[in-house]
Amino acid sequence: MIRTTCPYCGVGCGVLATPDGRGGLEVKGDPDHPANRGRLCSKGAALGETVGLEDRLLAPMVEGREVDWDDALDLVAKKFSDTIRLHGPDSVAFYVSGQLLTEDYYVANKLMKGFIGSANIDTNSRLCMASSVAGHKRAFGTDTVPGLYEDLELADLIVLVGSNLAWCHPILYQRIVAARDSRPDLKIVNIDPRVTATSDLANLHLALNPGSDVALFNHLLAAIETRGAADSDFLRDHVTGYAEAVRAAQASDVAATGLAPADIESFVDLWLGTERVVTVYSQGVNQSTSGTDKVNAILNCHLATGRIGRPGMGPFSVTGQPNAMGGREVGGLANQLAAHLDLENPAHRQAVRDFWSAPAMPEAAGLKAADMFDAVHDGRIKALWIICTNPAVSMPDADRVRDAIAACAFTVVSDCTARTDTARLANVVLPATTWGEKDGTVTNSERCISRQRPALPVPGKARHDWEILAEVGRRMGWKEAFDYRNPAEIFSEHAELSGIAGGFGKDFDISGLAAQGRAAYDAMAPTHWPVSAARNGGRFFGDGRFFTDDRKARMVAVTPASPAALPFSGRPFVLNTGRIRDHWHTMTRSGKSPRLARHLAEPFVEMHPRDAVALGIAPSELVALSSDRGRVILRVLITDRVRPRQLFAPMHWTGDAASAARVNTLLATHVDPISGQPESKATPVAAERYSAAWYAFAVCRQRPAVRCDYWARIRTEGGWRVEMAGSEPVSDWSERARMIFGQTEAEVIMMTDEARGSARVALVQEGRLSGALFVAPQPISVARQHVADQLGRDPSGVLAGRPGGGAEDPGQTICSCIGVGMNTIARAVQAGQLATVDAVGAATGAGTSCGSCRSEIAGLIERFRMPQAAE
Ligand code: SF4
Repeated sequence: MIRTTCPYCGVGCGVLATPDGRGGLEVKGDPDHPANRGRLCSKGAALGETVGLEDRLLAPMVEGREVDWDDALDLVAKKFSDTIRLHGPDSVAFYVSGQLLTEDYYVANKLMKGFIGSANIDTNSRLCMASSVAGHKRAFGTDTVPGLYEDLELADLIVLVGSNLAWCHPILYQRIVAARDSRPDLKIVNIDPRVTATSDLANLHLALNPGSDVALFNHLLAAIETRGAADSDFLRDHVTGYAEAVRAAQASDVAATGLAPADIESFVDLWLGTERVVTVYSQGVNQSTSGTDKVNAILNCHLATGRIGRPGMGPFSVTGQPNAMGGREVGGLANQLAAHLDLENPAHRQAVRDFWSAPAMPEAAGLKAADMFDAVHDGRIKALWIICTNPAVSMPDADRVRDAIAACAFTVVSDCTARTDTARLANVVLPATTWGEKDGTVTNSERCISRQRPALPVPGKARHDWEILAEVGRRMGWKEAFDYRNPAEIFSEHAELSGIAGGFGKDFDISGLAAQGRAAYDAMAPTHWPVSAARNGGRFFGDGRFFTDDRKARMVAVTPASPAALPFSGRPFVLNTGRIRDHWHTMTRSGKSPRLARHLAEPFVEMHPRDAVALGIAPSELVALSSDRGRVILRVLITDRVRPRQLFAPMHWTGDAASAARVNTLLATHVDPISGQPESKATPVAAERYSAAWYAFAVCRQRPAVRCDYWARIRTEGGWRVEMAGSEPVSDWSERARMIFGQTEAEVIMMTDEARGSARVALVQEGRLSGALFVAPQPISVARQHVADQLGRDPSGVLAGRPGGGAEDPGQTICSCIGVGMNTIARAVQAGQLATVDAVGAATGAGTSCGSCRSEIAGLIERFRMPQAAE
């Protein structure tokens, strides 16, 4: 049994992974890890389904040909060296990832900033929490998260801003649920334009207008002043800028939020009347053209009341990725040095230069993500190395980014698979290890450093990212600087460097771990930083001392601003993008799990019923969204959880998973002027009904080869399931089925209904079902999981599309772990008049494993119990 850490979100849960002897892993939550205390969410619990070698890249490839490592590495080193010699160090760039381990990140940053001599290294964390970094630095002097997860349990009021914690940080959500169960007086406010799974927990949901958070928190700050709620002693001794911030707040108009005055005052009353307040915020705050101001508007309120750095109170930025925090520690952003030191500070630069014996150090910030891909597009960047991320899907204006990468003179991609939209564009693709094989550390949202340990052998010729980077560094001429033998040596160097930062009065100091040696590193338990002679773990700022020159925090005067792209009259809808419960980023890993695919198997857009009626869109039809950048086609999900003229669509689907669902192709690149973080929450789009001549649903054993206007494919147990639609009639569905399934020899069983224009096709090989296709002129209503479950079985009866013999269709999967569908839960609720999630669990098993679905079960109880409640 190996103790390791989950590779998904920034909660950073501990995982116990046990090899099953067949190349797989059995996975459980680590009861000793402080982040999760034994629990895992649906994604973490399904990790064992994601470690297979299907689609893995197992050898280096150059221009599509397999080559030796030596050839690949020599080529990368030569191309980068030649480009630097001819065009200077700023003609090359690295684009890295919050999925990298700290040791990988450290070597990448050292190579670029200390040896190549450019600061052109940026990370997909730019899209995640750069605004929090910038806000922290403005207020505290450093990028410091003051609190700990236990503050969530100690608080009397938790304010969740732009954060669907139930789906995006599920274990933190469950910790809050447990806290509320034990202390019903704990109040929760959810601030989010749409109703999410998290809203169901809230005492008060404030569905504010997109981007109006500054107006709301400025109103709160003005009320703090007016009602005499400021902590004058704390302000006098520890804070500057109060008067200016309050003046700006008083000039703001809270009407911009669009909230009812009574709701606003309820929020203010709660906040002012509760000493122990934690304000949790994430992407809804950060991914904005005013993200940094939003962060400072929140921090201002905590500073004005002195509610920071003490148990149960403080602002809390939760990071999206597992090692966004570790990336910040090593300086993995283009405007950072290492160890929270400042690139623009000559003394800091010299200290790092001396420590690294570096030949060249940049004196100014490099290109942030959006600017970097602009520079790739216009040819200023001529050699680009993309590591462990998929910007052709995840960057805004994704088609332009894809075209830029394709046109770059030399592109290297390091990844565990070549089957990404980005890897397909690269000249060189290098096979990297991935979760289950990697060896190093990550830091979660509460500054807890945990080991990610290998539980499986490294497959094929894959190598660790730090090894690949160090090899290239050595081949570029810096043998000694990159002469690492194992990750413990890198961590030790990183820890030693942080001691120098500590000497400059910086927060990030883990010098106490520098000399621990390899055995202690291998055995390292989860450890909160700082770890130094001066201090060990705990909260920051409880003593009122910050990391500015005068050791006082800065309140920042901020003014509300609408999202940069709004309003836009030609495109009347505002598109909000985000994540769903059971997928992660561009699905490279989560897309391998059939269990995770059951929850939401298809790209979708949430639309208000009034808008659907106005556009003539019926439930489950398709809708085309367009902007001046791109066009996508998505399944409509009609719900009043979004407000009229607002839409929500997940960002996970790639060009490999669907025909036209890369939603970031719709987004223009508007960035926060301070943090450089792009806006992802407020894009003006047009929407129209996609006029389909036919809809289809299919299951098959092999990856289906689909060509039509709309398709989306995802794994299922023993095969694939695919949704399709087209605008052109198809004359021969049996032939089309053979083509899609690649089964020209299969026996065909077909049923057609000429009057209804529908067809059902089963393909049979060796007496077993190898594929099934259902076609109709309207959205297909078959029991999808039931049909998928028939693959490989006797084909009789599959064409009914529903369980036979009186068996019931369980409906869309709600509980992925136990495999319980919505219809099953609804029937149990109605039959037993069940009133609690635990009662549903006892009756059906739903929600009794990882618990990620508990908020959805609560919603179903609400929905299906209503008739009884009215009696
Ligand atoms: Fe992984 Fe879920 Fe924990 Fe996040 S909350 S670290 S996804 S198990």
